[in-house]
Amino acid sequence: MKTINDFNFENKKALIRVDFNVPLNENLEVTDGTRIRAAKDTITKILEDGGSCVLMSHLGRPNGIEEKLSLKHIVSKVSELIGVQVSFVHDCVGQQAEQAVAELENGKLLLLENLRFHQEEKSGDEEFAKALAKLGDIYVNDAFGTAHRAHASTAVVANYFTKNKCFGMLLASEINNINKVLTHGEQPVTAIIGGAKVSSKITIIESILNKIDHLIIGGGMAFTFIKAQGGQVGSSLVEEDKQALALSILELAKEKNVKIHLPIDAIVADQFSNEANTKIEDIFTISDGWMGLDVGPKTNTIFSDIILNSKTILWNGPVGVFEMESFAKGTISLGNSIAEATKKGAFSLVGGGDSVAAVKKFNLGDEVSYVSTGGGAMLEMLEGKTLPGIQAILE
Ligand code: AMP
Repeated sequence: MKTINDFNFENKKALIRVDFNVPLNENLEVTDGTRIRAAKDTITKILEDGGSCVLMSHLGRPNGIEEKLSLKHIVSKVSELIGVQVSFVHDCVGQQAEQAVAELENGKLLLLENLRFHQEEKSGDEEFAKALAKLGDIYVNDAFGTAHRAHASTAVVANYFTKNKCFGMLLASEINNINKVLTHGEQPVTAIIGGAKVSSKITIIESILNKIDHLIIGGGMAFTFIKAQGGQVGSSLVEEDKQALALSILELAKEKNVKIHLPIDAIVADQFSNEANTKIEDIFTISDGWMGLDVGPKTNTIFSDIILNSKTILWNGPVGVFEMESFAKGTISLGNSIAEATKKGAFSLVGGGDSVAAVKKFNLGDEVSYVSTGGGAMLEMLEGKTLPGIQAILE
């Protein structure tokens, strides 16, 4: 796997696909610079070698050119967070962009305009990719968040750099950390899959059953498993048409010697609200009209024991409606157990939109081994898919 450390960038212009798809407020100011900061190591190494960087990214989902989605709004934030003056060019291909690149001196940064102002970006257009390829000597992909897309800047452009292409530090560490779980996780390996629905996690579950010893299932999706086994789940979230699938997963897990752990009790509520009346019930006998919105205390103890005895942990999805304080305890307890296991030497990887949000909300980011930045991309890797953005560098 070639990374930027395999190249010396002296007098070279690096064309870097970054993920600067950052949130902006109504004054068009960056409200969270995490993604910009994440590119710093890659940029710094190239500049310190004596090269320069041409940065390309998308921002939002523009329909043609949309002023409010221009990357010019983030120029000052990029300068501030990377600590180097950034110049900007009002297009990402063509004469103006080529001119700006030609004038770019070593040690300097140039940011191109939003790639998605051209519809050819998303369609993976060859000519557009070729035009982008004119803007650098070495292509670097450091955008994990879009690595599952076969877009012009994330995959097709790599074809025009036969040898001179590599992974940036962020993308390389994402791949290494996910592979730590998927290919060489120290046993016992435990996956915790939560969230709302079985249907959105089914492919991941099927794929990771080959790599794990324990599977903890929590969140709304647990109720489909409980109902399929004859439980009464009141008005908890159930995907009626996924019950057979749930049973087949339990069967498959048995064949593969994977222990599945479902909740045994739940915090149930009389309405979907933080102010609802609540009580704790056995998960197999939830009262009519009540819905399970968090795992109960007995479940917390069981889940915690398994986690504390694991050496490799993957966490995707909350085990309750953690956005509401009344139903956050299970997810907090789970996060704390993962943090404790990590302290004892386990490797823990957290990924997927809502578990990352939970980790941030409960300040656990520094207490787990790795928090993945790419929601969709990480999920596709866990599903065992080959990501076009990664494949294009390896070819
Ligand atoms: P996902 O995007 O599939 O990972 O689902 C995350 C969402 O699942 C979060 O917004 C949670 O509030 C929600 N969730 C977790 N547990 C439950 C539950 N027991 N009932 C309904 N929604 C839940």
